[in-house]
Amino acid sequence: AVKAVGIRKSFGNHEVLKGLDLDVAYGEVLCILGPSGSGKSTFLRCINHLEIPNGGYVWVDGAIMGYELNRGALQELPVKRLRAQQSQLGMVFQHFNLFAHRTVLGNVTEGPMVVRGLSRAEAEARAMALLEQVGMAAKASSYPSQLSGGQKQRVAIARALAMEPRVMLFDEPTSALDPELVGEVLEVMRNLARGGTTMIVVTHEIGFAREVADRVVVMIDGEIRENGAPQQVLSNPGDARVRSFLSRVL
Ligand code: ATP
Ligand code: MG
Repeated sequence: AVKAVGIRKSFGNHEVLKGLDLDVAYGEVLCILGPSGSGKSTFLRCINHLEIPNGGYVWVDGAIMGYELNRGALQELPVKRLRAQQSQLGMVFQHFNLFAHRTVLGNVTEGPMVVRGLSRAEAEARAMALLEQVGMAAKASSYPSQLSGGQKQRVAIARALAMEPRVMLFDEPTSALDPELVGEVLEVMRNLARGGTTMIVVTHEIGFAREVADRVVVMIDGEIRENGAPQQVLSNPGDARVRSFLSRVL
């Protein structure tokens, strides 16, 4: 579903990503772990081309993100087509980024109506089904300010799913939540994983990674140091810096 090859990214002369390769199959759940500042968010942002890599390419569904082939040469995509490409990747952030002046239902119908041209009736029918799925149907006419953090994040997940993305990207979706609200969001993500959604999840929730991930990647200093089955990576990492990182978070 997603293939990244040789992804490099620098800010000024600070090299944040040092040539990352990654392959994610359809239906696979990949968790990315790593210390703060190791480049996890930057990598996710490179995958959906919110950040343009200085080197390397990302393929989603077989198409190169951000470019098209024109007479054998790569050309940058016009913004409109880039946006269409990016809509194949659903993004859920640490801070929910809901539209404050829209109801829960309005948040979930906005994208499908504006970007995909769905009628209001169709967008609302689909939105209600998604809100049902994340346990938020009863709050459809509430505003974000009336919701708990966990509820906001569940709405944010429904909003991302409403665009029918091929892949869901999560960047520490539970890090900003009070501890007692983490479980309800992880439960929604667990159900998505069970349903076969392709997911790339940056998280500090080692328990979630162990239980739900098909594969775990550990990033240290802009490099992928481990990439394998959760049991293998979490219990018996070969890399000394990964061992030291895990011993601090486990
Ligand atoms: P955390 O776990 O704290 O979220 P992270 O692994 O997601 O960390 P990134 O946010 O990707 O790390 O940042 C990696 C490095 O890149 C950091 O040193 C950060 O300061 C730097 N960085 C990220 N974005 C920018 C930017 N837009 N401009 C300059 N430096 C940046
Ligand atoms: Mg981050």
